[in-house]
Order: sequence, then structure tokens, then C-alpha cells
Amino acid sequence: MTSSPYKLAVEELTVAFGHGGRARTVLRGVSTGVRNGQTLGLVGESGSGKSTVAKAIVGTHPARTGRILLDGEDLTGLGRKERAAVRRRVQLVSQDPYASLNPRMTVGEAIAEAVDPLRADARKHAAAVERWLGTVALDGSAADRYPHEFSGGQRQRIAVARALAVEPEVLIADEITSALDASVQAEVINLLEELRRSLSLTMIFISHDLAVVRHVSDEVAVLCQGELVEQGPVRDVYHAPQHPYTRRLLASVPTFEEKEEAA
Ligand code: ADP
Ligand code: MG
Repeated sequence: MTSSPYKLAVEELTVAFGHGGRARTVLRGVSTGVRNGQTLGLVGESGSGKSTVAKAIVGTHPARTGRILLDGEDLTGLGRKERAAVRRRVQLVSQDPYASLNPRMTVGEAIAEAVDPLRADARKHAAAVERWLGTVALDGSAADRYPHEFSGGQRQRIAVARALAVEPEVLIADEITSALDASVQAEVINLLEELRRSLSLTMIFISHDLAVVRHVSDEVAVLCQGELVEQGPVRDVYHAPQHPYTRRLLASVPTFEEKEEAA
């Protein structure tokens, strides 16, 4: 155990794809973390390594070196069985809800399985399913339908409901609004904010959209070509970015200055 200030911390994380001479390092010594009950925004251009950080945290892509600490406990050295238990404590929702929703399972079955992976029985868990659907403002009748029968925004809310049904301590949202129209985006983000507060979730909110990140985050971390170049409270980073890359990123948000003045 270490006395990290973070609920979830990433220390000196290095990740590579491929082997031998073809290996490509995509994360180099990344250290970051999110405090209990807070939201960390993780930003950076496409290809900077944001999703790889998320995948390394939940263990779907192995870290080459480094540590991932949940409440001070290193997850990288755990055996398979322990990892499965820990995995429930940290849930990832990604841009493509089909990645977390089985297209052949009804929404009710998917949520029931999340609630109770060992004895998945949609009927037995009907009450829990209805409750979680209600949490994301969906009617109980959604339980009998399949993911493809919903709109993109609804499907994204279903993916959030499925992840929350696991009752995680940390939720990682990876570009979950990027494929949605602006109005639906706002709806999903407001919902996420509400849930975060009511469930005291710790969250990592990954997005290339700096305006959205600013809205939802307590702190923001900036990734540039696989390296973490800056992290701090949202106000500090947006008002006084320290790294030239962060300044460039902010300058590329056309409405940022105007919104700033209007506020
Ligand atoms: P971001 O989420 O910031 O857009 P990613 O983490 O998806 O970035 O990707 C970081 C880098 O890793 C990119 O150059 C990407 O091409 C590469 N990469 C991602 N996934 C794989 C993979 N499965 N195999 C090989 N390279 C990958
Ligand atoms: Mg990504």
C-alpha cells in the first residue's frame, strides 16, 4: 500500500503494441490519477494514447511497465481471479456501445448479467433492471428489446446503465458522446453528471472535446504522443496552460475565448 492521494493512480505506465522489431511504444512513462469522488478529464489529439490508458487500466491491454493502483493496491500484478473481482470495481464505457453491449442479448439480459454475472436470469433481476433503466431515463419496456432497436443516444445511456449496474467505484467514459448530435451529447453528459453525484462515483472522462471536458472535470490531464505533459485543476490548465502543446490544443478550440468572455 502506498499513500497516494488518488483513488485510482497510474504510475510510470508504458504500453507497446506488437513485438520485437515491430513493437511500437504508444505510452511512455505516463503518471496520472484521479481523486476519490472527482472527475479527471483526459485530453489529447486523436492517436495520443487516451484509449490505451483506459484499456491498460481495465486490463484489456497489458502494461509493459508501470503500476495501476486502486486504493493503493497494484492491479498489474494480480492473478486472473483477483483481477476479475477488481475489474468490476472499474468499469469502462467506450464510444462504441456495441463494444460493451452484446447485440444478441436483450438490454434486460445485459443489465441482469452486469448485476449478477454468475446467475444471470433476466426475470429474477427484473426489479434491478428496471431500476437501472430508470436511472438513465429509460422505460422498463426497454428491457425486452435489443441494442440495435435504439437510437445512438439511447444506446449510449444503456451502456452507461449496464456499467453502473456493476456498481463500480470508478467509471471511465471514453469519448462516449463523440458520435452523438450536440443536443443528445448534452443530455448524456448531464445525466452522467447527475449519476456521478448521486452515486459518488470517481470518474475518468476521456474526450478530445475540450469544452465538454472543462464542463465536467475537476482536474484535467493532457496527453501528447503517448506522454503526459500536464495535469492540474481545470481552472489552472485552461487559464494558464504550462505546456506549449496544451496551449496549442486550447487555441484550436475556436469558441473558447468567446465563451470565456460571455461567461
Ligand atoms: P486515442 O484514444 O488518443 O485516439 P489510442 O490510444 O487509440 O489513441 O491510440 C494510440 C496509438 O496507439 C495510435 O497511434 C494507435 O494507432 C495505436 N494503437 C491503438 N490500438 C492499437 C492496436 N490494437 N494495435 C496497434 N496499434 C494500436
Ligand atoms: Mg480513443
